[in-house]
Amino acid sequence: MSGLTLALTKGRILDEALPLLERAGIRPLERPGESRKLLLDTDQPGVRLLILRGVDVPTYVQQGAADLGIVGRDLLLEHGGEGLYEPLDLGIARCRLMTAGPVGVPRPAGRIRVATKYAAVARRHYAAQGRQADIVKLWGAMELAPLLGLADEIVDIVDTGRTLRAHGLEPRETIAEVSSRVIVNRAAMKLKHRLVRPLLARLAAAREEGA
Ligand code: AMP
Repeated sequence: MSGLTLALTKGRILDEALPLLERAGIRPLERPGESRKLLLDTDQPGVRLLILRGVDVPTYVQQGAADLGIVGRDLLLEHGGEGLYEPLDLGIARCRLMTAGPVGVPRPAGRIRVATKYAAVARRHYAAQGRQADIVKLWGAMELAPLLGLADEIVDIVDTGRTLRAHGLEPRETIAEVSSRVIVNRAAMKLKHRLVRPLLARLAAAREEGA
């Protein structure tokens, strides 16, 4: 129970989170990716980093396997926030959750087929518009689905829009603005507040420094 385990999302979030952690005084003893290790000690005694896929970060923190996590708001919207505090927006890895469809092709009038890994987000979005949506759950390469007749629209993350354009798609509606958030296990926030509070303060200061 002593020390803190911080779960990080590999990929773009990790690349942007490491400089921020460094400004907050936390450096991994080995560079993530250099070894195959997914659990890394840091120069702060008792502080460990866990390198995970984003979809798993809320689960690790919710279950208390990690005390804190850094994860995109897109995955928090999909996962739901039960058992988690979300005290800090780090403002990194910004993008948008959007619907997109083939350029120049109107939406079908009736039921719409939507390919996405954000099934819950998509269901809520189309339901709020009173539209019947059949969700095709995929784990990646959503942008291929309309091209191959698997779906009329997709719900995915868009940054520059280059991935959409490369597949003949155009952005349609913005569902949510996304950036990376710090999440904290509810029990850890209470039982380890002497460790968690100062770390949150250092991360908030590091965010301002980098802004
Ligand atoms: P873009 O072509 O710049 O619109 O980027 C789109 C693709 O990059 C998406 O399909 C995502 O897989 C990935 N991506 C972009 N920004 C992020 C982010 N902040 N977090 C996670 N993945 C991202």
